[in-house]
Amino acid sequence: MNIEPFVHRLLEWYPLHKRDLPWRNTNNPYIIWLSEIILQQTRVAQGLPYFERYLKYYPTLKDLALAPSEEVMRLWQGLGYYSRARNLHDCAKDVYYNYGGHFPEDYAGLLKLKGVGSYTAAAIASFAFDEAVAVVDGNVFRVLSRYFGIPTDIASGKGKKEFEHLANKLIPHDRPGEFNQAIMEFGALQCVPKNPDCENCPLKAGCFASHKSMVHELPFKSKKLKIRDRYFQYYHIVCGDYTVVKERKGGDIWQGLFDFPMKENEKISENFENAYPIFEDNSVFGTITVIHEEHVYKHILTHQRIFANFVKFVVDESFRSGIESWATGKNYHLVDSGKLENLAKPRLILKYLNEEK
Ligand code: SF4
Repeated sequence: MNIEPFVHRLLEWYPLHKRDLPWRNTNNPYIIWLSEIILQQTRVAQGLPYFERYLKYYPTLKDLALAPSEEVMRLWQGLGYYSRARNLHDCAKDVYYNYGGHFPEDYAGLLKLKGVGSYTAAAIASFAFDEAVAVVDGNVFRVLSRYFGIPTDIASGKGKKEFEHLANKLIPHDRPGEFNQAIMEFGALQCVPKNPDCENCPLKAGCFASHKSMVHELPFKSKKLKIRDRYFQYYHIVCGDYTVVKERKGGDIWQGLFDFPMKENEKISENFENAYPIFEDNSVFGTITVIHEEHVYKHILTHQRIFANFVKFVVDESFRSGIESWATGKNYHLVDSGKLENLAKPRLILKYLNEEK
């Protein structure tokens, strides 16, 4: 395996093509960690405004550690994968209270932090502390698989180990951070998943996939994600300026965010009469105006497709105390419009509320 030209050309390519991103050119572990957590499973263009917002609100680790969790979650709103926001906050508190406000300075120590996996630990260790440990993300898999002609399934444990082993063999000990940034950026800009521009690629001469016309076959990934369809019927209950909301608990999507009372069905409900049992003893609410939204909202997550429709119940203001005790008894909350605005909500709910206005 001829490692030298690969490393050399990559390090030549990087300074000429790298994007000017705000978390580059720093060795501050807090900023590097923040950017890595935000960018996991997120495109740079989408993650950038979030990164800037967090850094504006919380310029230091201490600011983030001491921030109210509701605020941390609200700032994350719309970015998805909300467990990352919880882990972000937990990790900041952990570093602040248990490590004197300083990140551990090596890969092994970083791995012990909450929400910090091998990828993030390697990124912080190499970018901030110059430790020669390779980052291996989807971009790196692709570049290595194509260039060196490795057919191992990247979704398998064996494949991950093999690619990690190779990346750690390649990493130059005098420029580990730069090499890691270079290979990730190369995968993001040059050796892209679909139709990479091989003709103008500086690695073409030594690239297995390009020579063997296997660019579209590599990397090999066997497991197709199983997508689960779910059907939510939401009950949007309003009483004057107040709305009934529900905090989502653990063991399901959107943990810690707020949506509405809801029933999950086997298929999309076309009969809004189904919605009435939500109230059971609805006599305490007087006359309820029911507005059935025909529109079905479709929301795509990595492993799930959510189909949701909404039934809106308008309860007369004079029944507010009745609806409040009903909501409390069911572990719901009755919140005014200001509070509703500030709660962290799934994007699906935001979309509905925006369209419903
Ligand atoms: S020649 Fe094509 S497949 Fe090979 S590294 Fe370059 S862009 Fe990727």
